[in-house]
Amino acid sequence: MELTDALALIRRVPDFPEPGVLFQDITPVLGDPAAFRAVVDAMAATLEDVDTLVAVDARGFFFGAAVAYSRGLGVVPVRKAGKLPVVGGHASYSLEYGTAQLEIPADLIKPGQRVAVIDDVLATGGTAAAACELVEHAKAEVAGITVLMEIGALGGRRRLVGRKIHALLTV
Ligand code: 5GP
Repeated sequence: MELTDALALIRRVPDFPEPGVLFQDITPVLGDPAAFRAVVDAMAATLEDVDTLVAVDARGFFFGAAVAYSRGLGVVPVRKAGKLPVVGGHASYSLEYGTAQLEIPADLIKPGQRVAVIDDVLATGGTAAAACELVEHAKAEVAGITVLMEIGALGGRRRLVGRKIHALLTV
């Protein structure tokens, strides 16, 4: 399947999870085998010289795990607070709708590693910025951020100045 056809499966859901939010539902891409393969291959192709991946809770896990497998890399889950048994660091972030904390497992990212951050959607950039902070707290380097889609109007790039951002689709 062509990447554009795969990305066309993303559906927009008004007023979810709150009134006024237009939610980009990527689950149809996950559910379609050809579409899932097309987006995972395209995300994998954005990675240059990286040692490992960080995938962001929760939808980032699908793409991060698949990209890691296809590139022969490991994947480190960055999770919402309270889910990890051995925490290596935490970072606060604000969402399009609310605030929260992300945590990274201890000792999985090694100092000096080049790390790609993977998620489904880049919106205000707070989540990706927090994930990058956790990578750098582990004394590793953020090689880039790869997302399925970017919501340009929410200004995520302004919070990620100087970072290399790869978005398969920008709306
Ligand atoms: P940000 O921190 O950039 O505002 O929000 C990005 C994070 O929130 C990502 O982890 C993403 O999964 C989630 N998110 C925010 N808006 C949307 C959306 O419209 N669709 C999806 N699928 N996730 C979203």
